[in-house]
Parts: sequence; structure tokens; C-alpha cells
Amino acid sequence: MNCANPLDAGILGDYWAGALSQTEEETVEEHLLGCDECGERLLELGALADSVRKLARQGSLLMVVSDRFLQRIAAEGLHAREYTPPRGGNIACTVTADDDFLIGRLTADLSGAKQIDLSLCDERGIERLRLTDIPFNPRGGSVAFQQSITYAKAAPSETMIARLIARDDGGARSMLGEYTFHHTRTLPGPGT
Ligand SMILES: [Zn+2]
Repeated sequence: MNCANPLDAGILGDYWAGALSQTEEETVEEHLLGCDECGERLLELGALADSVRKLARQGSLLMVVSDRFLQRIAAEGLHAREYTPPRGGNIACTVTADDDFLIGRLTADLSGAKQIDLSLCDERGIERLRLTDIPFNPRGGSVAFQQSITYAKAAPSETMIARLIARDDGGARSMLGEYTFHHTRTLPGPGT
């Protein structure tokens, strides 16, 4: 370390997050002007915070989410767009630039299921993706999943069919519900 008076890591973190007072911020900026070493530490810290934040949010993964997760992102001021198609029916959906999460809620009686798979199919009912043995609350009455917001924002208008498939102890399968999402693209971009 060549810096005689290195900036505290906590101060750097708060500076990166924009949480310092104006006076503190000016002091930090003055130091950074003359100190490459602390400037590099700031960059490393920013990259680390970015990747941690991405991992924590996981808005870009298709996954089953809990109500607690949805409450937490709402408390963080993030916006989740949620669609609840009727069981056996369909719903028109889209995504806007302001949305951070895209949630589909599938209502069904889950009380008798030992294990549930979530199957995502194209408009012809051909399976494209299956999440096996998803977490669920037997008394919850629904399963919520997030579609990848990155995918949804770039996707063309298309139809997706979601199916909840239960397996009992003997391995027999039964359909708990089928739900159709008619996605309309509203964001400009390639393919429109
Ligand atoms: Zn320094």
C-alpha cells in the first residue's frame, strides 16, 4: 500500500451507493483525484456489489418464488408485474420497461400432491422446460414463478402454456391445472 491514509472500506461502499453526505462525498472525491490505489479499490468494490446485487435479485432466472420473496422485493421498492390466469383459462400479458420482475401465479388445489412439476410449453403444448419437484405450500392454493425479465423484455409476442403436474407416492401423474399466457410485446427492439 502506497496510500498513507487509505479510505475506509465502509466509506467507499457508502460512496459507491451514493449514501454519503455532500461534505463526505467531496472529501472522498478529493482523495480519489490524487490516489489511484483507492480508486482501484472503489472499482473492485463496485464490481463486487454489482454481482452480489444481481445474484440476490435473480430477476433473470426462471424460478419458483415464495410469497416472502415477493414481499421482500416489494419492500425494496422493486416492481413485480403479476398475472393470475384462471385455471384452465388464459390471460393477456405484457412487460414494461419499469418492471423488475414478471410473475405468473397458478392457482390450484395442492393439498393432495406429494411432488409437483411445473411444465412450460409452447402454444402447441409441446414442453420446452420443466422444473421438477418445485417447492410448494400444500395449503397455499397457488404456485408463483418468475419468468426471466431479461427474456420477457426481449421476447416477441407469443403464447406459453404452463402446467402444474402432481405426482403421488406411487409415481402416478395428474394434471393440477393448465394456464395459458398470451404475451404481447410492448417494448420496442429487434424482431418487432
Ligand atoms: Zn488513497
